[in-house]
Amino acid sequence: MSDPRPALLGPAEIRELAARLGVNPTKKLGQNFVLDPNTVRRIVRTAGVEAGETVVEVGPGLGSLTLGLLEAGARVAAVEIDGRLAEQLPLTVAEVGGLDAAARLDVVHADALRVTELPDPVRFVANLPYNVSVPVLLHFLEHFDSIRSGVVMVQAEVGERIAARPGSKVYGSPSVKSAWYGAFRVAGQVSRQVFWPVPNVDSVLVGFTRHDEEPGTAEERRATFRLVDAAFGQRRKTLRQSLSGVLGGADAAGGALAAAGVDPSARGERLTVEDFLRIARVAAA
Ligand code: SAM
Repeated sequence: MSDPRPALLGPAEIRELAARLGVNPTKKLGQNFVLDPNTVRRIVRTAGVEAGETVVEVGPGLGSLTLGLLEAGARVAAVEIDGRLAEQLPLTVAEVGGLDAAARLDVVHADALRVTELPDPVRFVANLPYNVSVPVLLHFLEHFDSIRSGVVMVQAEVGERIAARPGSKVYGSPSVKSAWYGAFRVAGQVSRQVFWPVPNVDSVLVGFTRHDEEPGTAEERRATFRLVDAAFGQRRKTLRQSLSGVLGGADAAGGALAAAGVDPSARGERLTVEDFLRIARVAAA
């Protein structure tokens, strides 16, 4: 006999919950809820979630992915900006996943971009709100050293950008900044039909493993990221030109680039994160 209580949310449960709460998904908060338990289990499996570990999830929404993480035996810290959703989540989890699952859930009602303290999550797993996916990902990597790996679902173009290597057409600031923290890869496509409402973009899963050590200090990271922003803010210009504003003029920029062993007439899209770091170190010396 099959278990009469579904452990995860399907289309009927999502619609019923949304109607009960009067939730009208908003674009502003990137609210596209996953209706498909298979997609949820695939994300949890791809992330390699293990029983007993602490996972942080940003944007639990109605709880589709949260229930999947709890089903795998994890403790979950779920950060949700929408008050109605944050308030309902423990009730949904207790009702659908049971009291044991509810006891392993902490809901934090907050803007994820402002959260700097959580009980040491080791994994980051989220179906991220599309408008803030890159800032949220970078924020958690910056503030939580304890995060060793993760999987995020993001808009396909954004995911390809995050995982891009130097020389690729889509290589840019998110690629270099992500590479500071770890190794990122596109880990699969996701059909837009698994969401409600159906978004007008495709999605991908992006997996990452954090480096054992970051390439430099926090101060060096900030200096490196300033150079990255300048280089990709004017990506068609040579580095000598695009970095002139942050390095005290074109001549000084040319000098710093040459001293760092980088061709001043190259463009940012050719440089690795280590190249940017070397330039930052020369500039700071
Ligand atoms: N995890 C759910 C799922 O897979 O069905 C919902 C994912 S939905 C794409 C994004 C969620 O992030 C929404 O619940 C939205 O309210 C929430 N959200 C949007 N901006 C946020 C922010 N800055 N901090 C925390 N949560 C946010």
